Amino acid sequence: MSTVTLTTRRVLRKADLREANERLILNLIRQTPDISRSDLVRVTGFSASSVSLIVNRLVRRGWVREDRLESNAQSGRPPVALRLDADSMLAIGVEISRERTRVAVADLHGRILRQKSLPWHPSANVFLGRLRSAIQSEAASCGEGKVLGVGVALPGTIRRDTGRVTAAEGLGWFEIDVHGELSRRSKIPFYYDNNAKLAATAERWYRKPGSAEIKDYVFVTAQGGLGTGVVIDGRILHGADGEASEFGHTLLYANGRKCICGNSGCWEEYASDRALVRIYKEMETGESVPDTATAEEIVRLAQDGDPRGLAALNEVAHNLSLGFVNLIYALNPEAIIVGDCLAKGWDLMEGAVWDGLRQRLPQRYLSRITLAPEQLGGDSILMGAVANVLSHYFTTFDHQPDAQSKGDVTFVTAE
Ligand SMILES: [Zn+2]
Repeated sequence: MSTVTLTTRRVLRKADLREANERLILNLIRQTPDISRSDLVRVTGFSASSVSLIVNRLVRRGWVREDRLESNAQSGRPPVALRLDADSMLAIGVEISRERTRVAVADLHGRILRQKSLPWHPSANVFLGRLRSAIQSEAASCGEGKVLGVGVALPGTIRRDTGRVTAAEGLGWFEIDVHGELSRRSKIPFYYDNNAKLAATAERWYRKPGSAEIKDYVFVTAQGGLGTGVVIDGRILHGADGEASEFGHTLLYANGRKCICGNSGCWEEYASDRALVRIYKEMETGESVPDTATAEEIVRLAQDGDPRGLAALNEVAHNLSLGFVNLIYALNPEAIIVGDCLAKGWDLMEGAVWDGLRQRLPQRYLSRITLAPEQLGGDSILMGAVANVLSHYFTTFDHQPDAQSKGDVTFVTAE
């Protein structure tokens, strides 16, 4: 363990505080349309000179610009709005899965400006080599020094500090040095996390201004299995080794189906994209429908009224509700948000899921909880990877004006 002198610690704290205040201001500008310097003084409790110092620094850096608005007052100068100069810096988001790998460039608001897809390859070396080339080519096209960082999302456990995959069963990756492969010859910082955790991050990060804040919720992804990102009091639950909230591998049926994790009877074997395809294939209804259908195709068939697709979706919805009961008892979330094929088929599944919850949960739980499809239309994971980069520069804060000391802030990182 390294020792730190008192002097060093004091210097560090001061620098940390300056950076934290800057992030607070930057984030308020990001979240609040047309905010002014005097609004910032009022909201933060900082002095006018402190706000000016920070805003001037952000303007000099090119991240923030000042736009004079039409005056609607009878006298006085027209107000000046502070706005992010969204294109001044960029972030790269990477979503890895067997089904869909994408590399996207986003602006400071996290808006996807362009993206490209990459085919899967069973060799991790070959796949990561191609992905590295794609990232480098996107970074080069952004311009020298314009990329803040690369955020990478994948299903499975990846160490956030080293970028090493411990286990990603769905990809067949175990102990893979993803960062070593992707960052070769690059000076850009990389940020890693699990895809479901990043999808959960995205729900909070991209929440529309003025909409109610959610702090306790679960995001459920269905990409080659069932992933869950758990947010408790505004923070992603990572656990001691980053392996927390693997609810997809909690037991639904003792002695049930064999799972890719090695255990049997896991929830994801009964309620996921993989489960939907299996259940659909196993159903014998005499319908002449393709046997190689993907989960998305089965959802589309069900939407067109195909009875086999509807029955398969209904069974998955029932199984989903069994796991939701466990989630609700364990975590008491205010919302469960579903992504991927579960979001696409949500209209057809919602009734069966609620029926399952009504049969098993006391009324007090039912009146509190919201179930909803993802708000980002299939981009939650990718945009969560982008938010993972941006959050290092815009860390979200819950500012508490009533805190004891003036200008005191409480951090709630988007992570
Ligand atoms: Zn499992």
